[in-house]
Amino acid sequence: MSPSQFLRILTQPSAWKRRPLFAVLLISAIAIIVGSLTTVAQNTRSTKVVATFLPMYLFTKAVSGSSQEVEILVPPNVTAHEYQASPSDARKLAQAEILVKNGLGMETFLSGLVANAGNPQLKQIDASQGIEPLKEEDHDHGHSHGHSHAEGNPHVWLDPILAQKQVANIREGLIAVDPKNAQTYRANAEAYIKQLQELDQEFKSRLGSVKDCKFIAFHDAYPYLARRYGIQQMAVLDLPDDSISPRDIQRVMAAVKEYQVQALLSEPGVNDSRLQQISNDVGLPVKTLDPIETGSLDPQYYFTAMRKNLNTLEGICQ
Ligand SMILES: [Zn+2]
Repeated sequence: MSPSQFLRILTQPSAWKRRPLFAVLLISAIAIIVGSLTTVAQNTRSTKVVATFLPMYLFTKAVSGSSQEVEILVPPNVTAHEYQASPSDARKLAQAEILVKNGLGMETFLSGLVANAGNPQLKQIDASQGIEPLKEEDHDHGHSHGHSHAEGNPHVWLDPILAQKQVANIREGLIAVDPKNAQTYRANAEAYIKQLQELDQEFKSRLGSVKDCKFIAFHDAYPYLARRYGIQQMAVLDLPDDSISPRDIQRVMAAVKEYQVQALLSEPGVNDSRLQQISNDVGLPVKTLDPIETGSLDPQYYFTAMRKNLNTLEGICQ
């Protein structure tokens, strides 16, 4: 049969009457071809995974390896605390299959965003599932910029033990959605968890003999880390973003006196000249601790940053 004959059969209504068997066979063949093409597409398409902010991206990327496309929602130079979602984020979530979040109130921008994405198929992985949060302390003396979290303190990723739980939660979530890559997820998670265990051992052995280690932070990021290794985050003082007033310096000085701390802990990217001024006035060093809310997208960045944090803590603790 030539193509033109074939077309004629298809377009002549009488042809279908004359050759019912042919029509049935043709329709079946088309159905089979379309069906198998769809199956091929489903098998070769990778699951699109979106992680909310830096540590969630690092852990998810470590577990998925090259088997998934992982995107980050909050750009890695912006902290999730001050993030405002954009329309392009809603589009990312509309096309995603999996959303990985820290939870515990960290991603306040997320609820409206998920609703706007209109993607009922989106599977959310809560990396903090099963972790008992610490209450967020009310240690701030009369100054706050909407930084309190009703669900507790969200900075659990800074404890290498709780980070292992987060990695395991992400692994289980990925396997549930994408079981055919289960072996890859298990192997990758195991390797990353092993590195977290080694990191924990380093913290334990190097901070184990510390007797007196108290600090003041300007961001309530370290209660889990401090609890794990017997150091003490004595106070968290919010400083205004623009200019430090004499009253702010008085608050820091009062806390330094009250808690007998060894250091003031700032973080990467914070305006150092203002803190240097406070440091001079209170006679204590300003050191940098990295909350890993911003930084590099390489999953190994977590370890680089945490080892720097360990060096800093070892330097100020006695
Ligand atoms: Zn934070």
